[in-house]
Amino acid sequence: MSKPGRRTLSAMSVRLLAAFFAATAFLSALSVPPAHADTPELPDRIVAAWKTDHVSVDERLRPTMPAAELTRIRTAVKNAGLPVYVALVPQSPYLSKGGYDLPTLLHARVGEPGVYIVAIATAGSWTVGGTLYRPAGLRGRDLYSVKSEDKERMNLVYDRPAPQIVRTIQQAATAYDGRPLPAVPASDLRPERAGSGPSVTDKADRATFIGMGAGGFLGFVLTLVLGLRRRKGTVKRAKSVAAKPVDVQDVQLRADQKIQEAERALGRLDKRANKTTQQLDRRDDAYRRLDAARTLRADQPDDLLSSAGALVLARQAERVASGAALQPPCFFDPTHNPGTAKVDWADDIEVPACQQCASVVRRGNTPRGLRVPTKSGLFGHDTKQVPYWTLDPEDSPMVATGFGALSDDLPEQLAASRKDGVR
Ligand SMILES: [Zn+2]
Repeated sequence: MSKPGRRTLSAMSVRLLAAFFAATAFLSALSVPPAHADTPELPDRIVAAWKTDHVSVDERLRPTMPAAELTRIRTAVKNAGLPVYVALVPQSPYLSKGGYDLPTLLHARVGEPGVYIVAIATAGSWTVGGTLYRPAGLRGRDLYSVKSEDKERMNLVYDRPAPQIVRTIQQAATAYDGRPLPAVPASDLRPERAGSGPSVTDKADRATFIGMGAGGFLGFVLTLVLGLRRRKGTVKRAKSVAAKPVDVQDVQLRADQKIQEAERALGRLDKRANKTTQQLDRRDDAYRRLDAARTLRADQPDDLLSSAGALVLARQAERVASGAALQPPCFFDPTHNPGTAKVDWADDIEVPACQQCASVVRRGNTPRGLRVPTKSGLFGHDTKQVPYWTLDPEDSPMVATGFGALSDDLPEQLAASRKDGVR
């Protein structure tokens, strides 16, 4: 079967791998996790575990998984009224290069109707995805439309798996037989956003609980960006390429407009009858990006990095939902046209860039890039504008991923950092 979507994603992976290998060359002194620390046999392992237990917990997570979480998940599975398959796995390079396809892969192996849920533990948070496969001819609603109407879904806690998994099971049951969605217990909801961040003790506890997760991979991306930052001085600066500062309001407007366009594109896709597996995959991916874009706009409405991140994610959601190929953003400035060119930059690291920035780099200069004010808390009244990639990647998933240009896992990293209270 022809799968243009997959081709696009694997083209992206190739680009990323190229960037990683280039990075490995100059970071060879550091220990780097192998590209396939996890293996493609992961789906087979999960399916084997499901033969005896529909809630499969990866062995790497078992030592730290609280029994109470599993009890809640099992109770929800038992009361669902439809077949439910749940897999809890740690994040890995294998998953981050297309983990949202996992429910589809798993369903293809099991071949039974039901809801397939994959919960991925990343350093600091859980990302939960699910796909509902109905028996042929069964009427009912779509899981995605139930999900998108569920106002509570964005308010669930991320630091343990049961709240999101139980909610996904409830949403699937509503889609399956039309029963009303129950209220979310208060203990599953995040405290108001005004609340202060988690204490050091909370963080330590969570780190123990989450286990190994994606630390290695994430660390690698951060190292890569740090490498880029250190080497920025070695590249000649452009004299004055479009010195006009970015207008925050303009980026906000464009992001909100794109979010609406993505919603409309998803609405059209939702209305299509007899969607193919590929269309279901696309919809899953588009919702993941759109949800992250909406969250960014809601959480930090005035922040330039967040608004630009929302613009990138909404633009990708709109394209994916419309059946167009996924495009990475321009690494230098995500508000530019998408990064349809590839350029070697700073010690031969390959980054996606818009045509304009690509030609600047090919002339041996550094594009002006998206400029942000340095933090006033650190520099007093300093209002200096610096390229965003010189900021500390640990402070922002947008910086750490180059808005998704360096690694296509911005939604996951946002969920993780959000839980950590990192801005
Ligand atoms: Zn550009």
